[in-house]
Amino acid sequence: MMRSTHLAMLTALICASTATVAHARRKGRGGRKGVRCDSARYGCAAHNTRYFDKLVRVTHHPPRSQDRACLGRLRRAGIKFRMLVHVKGVKTPVLVRSRRLGGVLYRRSWSNRRRFILDCHMVEALVAVGPAIRKAGVATIYYSSSWRYSIVKGTRRLSGHAYGVALDVTAIDGSFGYASVVRDYEKGRWGCGARNKTPKGKAWRRLYCALRLGRAFKTIFTPDKDRTHRDHIHVEGPNPRLRARPRRRRRRRSR
Ligand SMILES: [Zn+2]
Repeated sequence: MMRSTHLAMLTALICASTATVAHARRKGRGGRKGVRCDSARYGCAAHNTRYFDKLVRVTHHPPRSQDRACLGRLRRAGIKFRMLVHVKGVKTPVLVRSRRLGGVLYRRSWSNRRRFILDCHMVEALVAVGPAIRKAGVATIYYSSSWRYSIVKGTRRLSGHAYGVALDVTAIDGSFGYASVVRDYEKGRWGCGARNKTPKGKAWRRLYCALRLGRAFKTIFTPDKDRTHRDHIHVEGPNPRLRARPRRRRRRRSR
């Protein structure tokens, strides 16, 4: 009798402690050790990225600190977007709702479940280089990370993604078919496609040169850079002089 009472008490104690741990995890009180935010590509910036994601709000009246001129240009270019506030690190954050930027289709890569948030000027630059990307034969860009408040892996430095001025491209498609960085990028073949062996490898170098055209972006890291970039191309730092052109309106029929 005594033994069974002890056993019941012990079971109750174990159940209670398990419930407390589960509750603490749900509440996010697991402490730094319990937080999983370091990925293969990025490191944590004080908090889990989700912590910063939850702060984001839509606004209809962007504050003065934001680049309202850029928002106006984006609107006139026919881009659909939501204006945002409390996007940590980003000067003029927008949630991109248009599927096409400058005639190029942007699709999330299969593993990307995050919102398409970027700084207004990064979007503007993508719109501006769109025709050059199309000319390079690329119709669709598959992207993984856009805005993401994190640090560069192995450093204490904030990533370009934390400022909303970087985009990771994992795959493209066009007349050459579907080409991913990990399978089709030919390492060590510089130039704009002339030195490549395969049509898909050529497509990647043509895209690289399209993004480099007129120094549209300050930094482009490919698998040639290091192992971190073996499966994506990191595009960062839009040229501040780039402008999205206003969309041409259809002429009204003359009576
Ligand atoms: Zn990146």
